[in-house]
Formats: sequence, C-alpha cells, structure tokens
Amino acid sequence: MVNLPDDLKKYERSQKFKPVFVFVLCEITAALFFVLTRNVMYQTEYIAKYNVIGHAFYTVIFTVPLFISGIFSALSEKTFYGTVEKVKISTTVDSMNSFKPSKETRYRKNTIYLYVKEDGGEVEKFRIYSGRAKEGQFLETYNNGDRVFHLYGSKYTVIIPKPSDTMSQCAVCGITTDINEEFCHKCGHTLPHMIFKTGGEDEKQDF
Ligand SMILES: [Zn+2]
Repeated sequence: MVNLPDDLKKYERSQKFKPVFVFVLCEITAALFFVLTRNVMYQTEYIAKYNVIGHAFYTVIFTVPLFISGIFSALSEKTFYGTVEKVKISTTVDSMNSFKPSKETRYRKNTIYLYVKEDGGEVEKFRIYSGRAKEGQFLETYNNGDRVFHLYGSKYTVIIPKPSDTMSQCAVCGITTDINEEFCHKCGHTLPHMIFKTGGEDEKQDF
C-alpha cells in the first residue's frame, strides 16, 4: 500500500469519523426522546406490555439514524489506487421523486464502474459515479490502462498523471492544478503526482 502524506491521512480520518459522529449524536437524541416520552407512551404497566404502536414508534426512532448517518455506505467505501482494467457504464432511468414517480420526474442516470487492479492485488470493481446523465459525465474520462486513485470520503476518483501530463487533479476537491505545483491551489491538499511519482527511478520506490 502506498504511504499517504499526512494531510490526506488526516482528511481520510475525518471522513471516517463523520458518519460515526452523526450516528452517535442521532442515537443520543433518540435515547433522550425515549426517556422524556416513555411515561406518556407507556402510562400503565399493562399498556407498556401491549402497546404495539409505542414499540414500533421507538423502534423506528432508534433505527432511522442507521440510514440518515450514511454509516452503511461509509463501511463499504475505501481508499484505492491501481490500474483500470475495464470501464463499465450503465444507463438507467430514475426518478427525482422516489415516493411518487411520474413521467415529469424521470431522468436518465449514468452509473460508472471501474475494474481496478491494485498493485500486486486482485481486480476489484468500484462504483465511482452515479447520477444524472447530463451532469458530471466522466464518460470519456477513464480508459483502460489509466492509473487511478480514490481517497476515502472524496467524491472523486482521479487519474494519476503520466510523465507527459501537464495537469494533476486533486483527489479531495477534484480541481486540476499545474503539475509543477505540489499542493492543490483550492484546498491545499497534496496532489496525486506527488504521492505516485511518475517516471524514472522514483516509480519503484513507492510500490
Ligand atoms: Zn483540492
């Protein structure tokens, strides 16, 4: 595994901490709510035992944080880098209103998968983009043989510049910066070409 610079490690850590923090906060709120309202909901011992609505209500209150905190998707995400073996784009139809889909709320959705072979590892499939077809396209962005890098918590999967490239894309905020710079001019994080040295002797040292 490549050794990430401290600023990217810090970003990764904070991104991992965020959903856990939101989850714990929601659960504490739910517990507080439970303590404050249970006397009303379960007025007598008899009701406390058979109050199905009450039980269901509290079950929902304690379960909802699992979904709104994004803790599930946080667990399935990871930092990766490697060589693109295959690009797969699937186009589906989705609706802006999942409760009441109609013809007006439908839109074309693109989902982009990359099959990435990590150095000395297996080929793994990553979903790197899913959204409206006409917005962030990325359709022509990735090609077989490209070396890519994704940092945990970032929306972007960037292509590690080749020796001939003049620009480097920030793995955190996605902006492109001149390859002569070491840090992103927008967010200040270390740029990918500084982590994955391209060309010459340097190439061997990191992997
Ligand atoms: Zn940046």
